[in-house]
Amino acid sequence: MALKALDIYKLLPKKNCKECGDPTCLTFAMKLAGGKADVDLCPYLDEQAKSVLGATTRPPIRLVKIGVGERTFGVGEESVLYRHEKTFYHPPGILFKVSDTQTPEEITRITLRVRDESFTRVGTDLRFNGIAIENTSGSAESFARAVATVEESADLPLVLAAKTTGALALALVQVGSYRPLIHAATRDNFKEMCALAKKHGCPMVIKAESLDTLASLAKDCTAEGAQKLVMDLSPRTLGDFLVKSTAIRQLAITRKAPELGYPVFLDTPATGLQDAAIALGIAKYASVIVTAPLSPASSKAALTLRQNIYTDPQKPIQMTPGLYRVGSPGKDAPVLMTVNFSLTFFTLEGYLESTRIPCFMLIVDTEGLSVLTSVAAGKLSETLVRDSLKKFGVENEVSHKTLIIPGYAAPLSGRIEEATGWKVMVGPRDAAEIGEYLHTEWKK
Ligand code: SF4
Repeated sequence: MALKALDIYKLLPKKNCKECGDPTCLTFAMKLAGGKADVDLCPYLDEQAKSVLGATTRPPIRLVKIGVGERTFGVGEESVLYRHEKTFYHPPGILFKVSDTQTPEEITRITLRVRDESFTRVGTDLRFNGIAIENTSGSAESFARAVATVEESADLPLVLAAKTTGALALALVQVGSYRPLIHAATRDNFKEMCALAKKHGCPMVIKAESLDTLASLAKDCTAEGAQKLVMDLSPRTLGDFLVKSTAIRQLAITRKAPELGYPVFLDTPATGLQDAAIALGIAKYASVIVTAPLSPASSKAALTLRQNIYTDPQKPIQMTPGLYRVGSPGKDAPVLMTVNFSLTFFTLEGYLESTRIPCFMLIVDTEGLSVLTSVAAGKLSETLVRDSLKKFGVENEVSHKTLIIPGYAAPLSGRIEEATGWKVMVGPRDAAEIGEYLHTEWKK
């Protein structure tokens, strides 16, 4: 159970020395209670107090970083079961799998695809995260060659999945300093795996079928000095994964089983239902997802789903308010006003581009709310439109005073005309109809 600030304060040394970066021990206690500081910042805490405080104030799921450099990503550090309770913070890394039985050309092609491919949605570039190299051959030399081929092609986060610790040791000679995730420590080999993880500072996957074995394995591995762990639940079916991953998330965030507070690994081809497994993994708590290279359709579906699930539900994605150009609009181009909810902006912009009619988009600040919501909430008003027209100098850009407003803002049309002195035309409710509307209704 989480400790309150005063209970935490009682355990602190109360020197008020500021070495933790806080002016007093009490403010530090308040930060700890809110999960915004780490107990290690106080150098005067004894080990017993540290372990009591650490167990209750650290994030219930440990943060694990994979890779180095520009494409590095962190997973874990989640604190809720459902995203509407707060938000999910760290989107799962999705890695394309290659095998050491593939030709160097095939391995390079897949690696370059992950390096270069990106898909832009609501103003964000979405990408896959790295490469998982599998030691299908069983040969340490073939595995090391495949790892070298990937490494020569791109600086991407890696998962190294070898059959033996010897094969891993050989591969780590080349890429050990790039913080790859090594797979996998089991009851049988965990001491050798921990030694490798410690030597190279790598995160490590632990693998077992039962939650009890995973918990005891996690304890043994941390005792061996391997702290950065990810858990492979060895699911036999998708249902099995769902049951185990949900149980782990519940036990971890309620701190009933802190030894299960690590991110979860999912090898989707092993389930036999790859696309479904990716969707399930994204929605239900997988943090590292390995997949065979995906088709364009499956790629877009996976990246879109991940973006949606990991968007903060309390903060709509927003555009900066302003006057945007579609094409090269002249003085007689139409001006379309809408809100700064990103999805509205990019949807409308896409349809406007396809009309091939150059125009202006006047984006007003509704704090990211959609048209319908902002009208209902009173955020979209005639004064906002009037001030925005002035602020962004729209009169200087066009030779007319006609403003097209969204169909859902029709109740405001009269008030906007009065407040601005502009003639208001009510556009369609559905952005898909804007092309037809402009071709038929727009008059200079
Ligand atoms: Fe108090 Fe420790 Fe911070 Fe010093 S470092 S102010 S003793 S909490």
